[in-house]
Amino acid sequence: MDELEIIAEEIRKCKKCPLHKTRKNAVPGEGAKDAEIMFVGEAPGRNEDEQGRPFVGAAGEFLTELISMIGMTREEVFITNVVKCRPPHNRDPKPEEIEACSPFLDRQIKAISPRIIVGLGRHSTSYLFRKAGLKFRSIGAVRGKIVEVELLGLRVKLLPTYHPAASLYNPAVKDRIVEDFLKLKREGADLTKYF
Ligand code: URA
Ligand code: SF4
Repeated sequence: MDELEIIAEEIRKCKKCPLHKTRKNAVPGEGAKDAEIMFVGEAPGRNEDEQGRPFVGAAGEFLTELISMIGMTREEVFITNVVKCRPPHNRDPKPEEIEACSPFLDRQIKAISPRIIVGLGRHSTSYLFRKAGLKFRSIGAVRGKIVEVELLGLRVKLLPTYHPAASLYNPAVKDRIVEDFLKLKREGADLTKYF
């Protein structure tokens, strides 16, 4: 078993926070072991909890479209969340749940060693910024700006954007996410070796 599978097995058995009591399935994440780009969302929703897979509901459909817009497939990237079990009624994850769960994300990042990490929404972005020693004010202030950071001993580029779910009823947010993904695509084109 490789490191990512070991982490996934630990996540499926994990009881480190109370979310294990209400989950149907933990959602470790999925994609390429050597992905150049990682997408980090907030936490599983209803569909993800049922299937044990990340971003498979409406927000996931949009994310899948965005990934194909940059010329890639879900299988070529890695998709996961900061918190691996669904919070009841899709409430925001609590700080102590993020605290309990984030070591799994850290280990996934180290195992994959991506070039670019896309923070989907404020929860994942504020976590990644904190880990990189950066101040996080609001997602609106940082979205669409690529920052080169040292994170967990790796040099990576962070690209924060809005959460795809936020765009479902807000066309303006949708346009901005598309803009940010076009930036991601240009970043990839500049650095063809990444893709
Ligand atoms: N929203 C998230 O943040 N993650 C998912 O996996 C699905 C919806
Ligand atoms: Fe464990 Fe994370 Fe699930 Fe909490 S959310 S039980 S820490 S895997």
